[in-house]
Amino acid sequence: MTTTPAIAIRDVVKRYAPAGGEGKLALKGVSFDVPEGGIFGLLGPNGAGKSTLINIMAGLVNKTSGSIAIWGFDIDRDMRNAKRSIGIVPQEIVFDPFFTPFEVLEIQAGLYGIAKHLRRSEELLRAVHLSDKRNAYARTLSGGMKRRLLIAKALVHAPPVLVLDEPTAGVDVELRRQLWELVTEMNREGVTIVLTTHYLEEAEELCDRIAIINHGEVIANKPTRELVGMAREKVVVLTLDKDIADLPAHPAFLKCDKTGERTVEITYDKDRSNAGEVLAAVQAQGFAIIDVTTREADLEDVFVTLTSEARAAA
Ligand code: ADP
Ligand code: MG
Repeated sequence: MTTTPAIAIRDVVKRYAPAGGEGKLALKGVSFDVPEGGIFGLLGPNGAGKSTLINIMAGLVNKTSGSIAIWGFDIDRDMRNAKRSIGIVPQEIVFDPFFTPFEVLEIQAGLYGIAKHLRRSEELLRAVHLSDKRNAYARTLSGGMKRRLLIAKALVHAPPVLVLDEPTAGVDVELRRQLWELVTEMNREGVTIVLTTHYLEEAEELCDRIAIINHGEVIANKPTRELVGMAREKVVVLTLDKDIADLPAHPAFLKCDKTGERTVEITYDKDRSNAGEVLAAVQAQGFAIIDVTTREADLEDVFVTLTSEARAAA
């Protein structure tokens, strides 16, 4: 079965125009698909190239090469339909301070040529919990309200895909929760969500799939469960009392590697087993244990490992 992805990104390269030198290579041939219907996280440290990629989709930055299709529409050949299929909430908050939230949405609807009777300004204000601020000047809104208004603005033309660039950067815990809820709500209503973040925890909690980008390269792209699964694994390193002919085996072992004549590394899922069980299983197979060390990883370790591997390879 094949379905058209919400966004298909192929070999996208971006070199910013040289400022004297040879220019900054911000994207080095990025490819991935955003499947329809989920919440997709583009995770990466500052300077990784996340905003560059989003701004290319938004038509704000020209790519150097490669292609992007949004909802099946190529952004070069069919920019008009591509644009209609996506709503983008930029990283920077910019508003004319003298418009009210209602006006901001009406003006945006006008830009998309949406007839007055088809506009959804009131409904959108409700959706982002800003109905009571309908007639307030944008400059009087709190940072969190402005972010919510930007989300409503991005949804004015009812795009099937909503992209949020660092929606919670510099936002307090309470507001972050609110934004997460809002994003989850939009997704439940059928909008495919893409968000960029440099917070691991955010990506882990919200996203069903995560791509990790570092120095302009995608270094991982997996369902969140699998990525976090890489962090659920725990390893015990055992030195045994005799040479190992037959490796110890047990259903709780995810992996058992012989690393020396008398040493093995056993990987297990720390949610399903524990070191005691692993040791008991090894002893039950006739080995005595001379020495034990353990190591474990969390998502942060997975991230650090992946990003440093990518650095080493560069
Ligand atoms: P992120 O959003 O992941 O933090 P960006 O896409 O903003 O990363 O930046 C990626 C790289 O491109 C960085 O090294 C940044 O300094 C550089 N960059 C971004 N915008 C420009 C620009 N307009 N001109 C030159 N270099 C830029
Ligand atoms: Mg950015």
